[in-house]
Amino acid sequence: MPGERGRQTRREDGKPHAGGPGRLTHAERVIDPASGLTKGDLARYYTQAAPLMRPYLKGRPVSLVRAPSGIGGDLFFQRHMDAAMPGARLLPESLYPGHPPLLELPTPRAVLAAVQMNAIEFHTWNAVKTAIDKPDRIVFDLDPGEGVPWENVRQAARVLRALLSEIGLDAWLKTSGGKGLHVLVPLRRQHGWETTKDFSAALVRHLAQAWPQLFVAKSGPRNRVGRIYADYLRNGFGATTVAPWSARARPGLPISVPISWDELEQVRGGAHWTIADARERLDIGNRPWDGYAPQALGKAMAALGSRPS
Ligand code: ATP
Ligand code: MN
Repeated sequence: MPGERGRQTRREDGKPHAGGPGRLTHAERVIDPASGLTKGDLARYYTQAAPLMRPYLKGRPVSLVRAPSGIGGDLFFQRHMDAAMPGARLLPESLYPGHPPLLELPTPRAVLAAVQMNAIEFHTWNAVKTAIDKPDRIVFDLDPGEGVPWENVRQAARVLRALLSEIGLDAWLKTSGGKGLHVLVPLRRQHGWETTKDFSAALVRHLAQAWPQLFVAKSGPRNRVGRIYADYLRNGFGATTVAPWSARARPGLPISVPISWDELEQVRGGAHWTIADARERLDIGNRPWDGYAPQALGKAMAALGSRPS
């Protein structure tokens, strides 16, 4: 993973930085030469998306991908505050000892302040600040290897859902805004990181054994050729996944969108929607994730032969 380039600023004990309301400079600047989309277009998108992001950002450490020179320039993956962002919060240093304070963007205003600082993507942890040692979800990142038809990605998601359902867990689905899909399993905050990661690793191994034509458990481009890598490493302490409704710093500025399982058939790819055609999805909002609620892991672990560690 590329190094972090964010600079640390002074602690403010979780209090928001002072600053004026939603100022946007350089709205006319093109950030994606392929589509001609501008910083103003992105800000308009996030004005509508930020309220939908709120439940998934609130209380959660967040990292930003900033693109000060647009998506063709250097991208900065940033876990800490490096300039004033109105509404942003620095989280207590005790959450991640030995690291500068993590960042929280609890409000739409804070999201827009980050956009003003050229943030395009928002990535979150699998735990909230009040229970940082007890993850409240597992994420399966379905990444198609080279040459994998999209239908296989869809099938992989369905198979994963069926297996989870078989062991008593419901799962929710979103496009990644990139190449694949993300499957989320919300959890009660009962177990530590090792336990949830071991569980997700066991599940991925099971998939790779039972459906070897579809899944591969090993990372690395060569292992993935023709198959789908279900990445469980998103489930370790400090790992992040792009948040629902986040835009991606890729051509066309695609977005990560919550979808219902019934919709999967109509979705053409991980980058099905972009900030330019998000209107209809923004109206649908988070409804595809109705029912998203924490679940106990115990029975599922027992069924899979995975133990708490
Ligand atoms: P795709 O569907 O195309 O795979 P994705 O969102 O699943 O999209 P990536 O965009 O490749 O996957 O992101 C990889 C992971 O690494 C994400 O979980 C992200 O939070 C994290 N990440 C991305 N950039 C950095 C970085 N510079 N440093 C640390 N972690 C990063
Ligand atoms: Mn992925």
